[in-house]
Amino acid sequence: MGKVEIILIDSFDRNIDYMRISITDRCNLRCRYCMPDGIDLCSHDDILTFDEIVKVCREAVGLGIVNFKITGGEPLVRKNCPDLIEKIYSIDGVNEVTLTTNGVLLTEQLDRLISSGVKSINISLDTINREKYKEITGFDELDRVFEAIKKSIDRGLKVKINSVLHDENFKDDFFDLISLAKKYPIDVRFIEMMPIGLGAKSMLISNDELVKILKESFENVDIDDKKHGYGPAKYYRVDGFLGSIGFISAIHGKFCDSCNRIRMTSTGDIKSCLCFDKKISLKEALRNNDVKKVREMLIESILDKPEKHCFEEMDGITEVKNMSKIGG
Ligand code: SAM
Ligand code: SF4
Repeated sequence: MGKVEIILIDSFDRNIDYMRISITDRCNLRCRYCMPDGIDLCSHDDILTFDEIVKVCREAVGLGIVNFKITGGEPLVRKNCPDLIEKIYSIDGVNEVTLTTNGVLLTEQLDRLISSGVKSINISLDTINREKYKEITGFDELDRVFEAIKKSIDRGLKVKINSVLHDENFKDDFFDLISLAKKYPIDVRFIEMMPIGLGAKSMLISNDELVKILKESFENVDIDDKKHGYGPAKYYRVDGFLGSIGFISAIHGKFCDSCNRIRMTSTGDIKSCLCFDKKISLKEALRNNDVKKVREMLIESILDKPEKHCFEEMDGITEVKNMSKIGG
């Protein structure tokens, strides 16, 4: 008998098939718009164990959520992150498990990540200027990130660079970063700063402006409508570039009508929209081993998913946590 495909549609006709899972609130960097002074850390007892996360994934897959992104804080600071990825991949019906990382610990974990099943990885990098990288992240780790990018490409991983530009010198960073897509077969994507946590106090650079600069600066820039993943990025191809340039425009190109995702924090709270602090906690049900309840709560949170965010009207935003607690 063929496999039954489950498709979960929310109240606004959106197919929810993707979940971002934060596995830690800890990080080895201190990005100035995310957690410059660190954060009040959750206690270890509050953080879901790998077995608990896998239980949630199993229920999610049963509902048609088959794509997972592991995030943090910095996911690679949590011991044995690749073991978790391997466990999620072993669930029947999972399509893809990917990872978003700042890249600092990637080289040393690359072999094990690849053997766990990872084929695609997102590396966050906002500048390739060494001094500026230090200013933004608080650490002199750019060489390690570059090494990780090159090794990941050499090992055949699909690599996407995610960049948030956030100061008046953004054009220099923009041109430097897109040069990576010229030189290497990787996608470089620009994410608009969202008014979450300290992002609300940071400069917002519109992706429309970046697209305009791209088109004015290169001769042949065409829309790239090839599927690059499961997210909302819009891509462009530039003549002579090995990779594509992507834009994730949460503010100026609101894509809520096609939003396909929910999020789980490291403490087991399900969030159906980044903008609101509305959450459903799975922890108690998980610790009581009540998987039926877990499944019911996942459905509840999907049916309750707001129609759209309100990032453009700051007053309506109720999320107060930093992005490091949510996972981006
Ligand atoms: N530490 C990992 C990393 O940096 O990729 C994973 C977690 S981090 C919170 C995920 C992504 O969120 C990063 O690409 C980061 O640049 C982005 N981010 C953090 N705060 C943001 C904000 N206010 N608006 C948009 N993106 C943000
Ligand atoms: Fe850490 Fe990622 Fe936040 Fe930077 S953006 S402080 S790397 S969690």
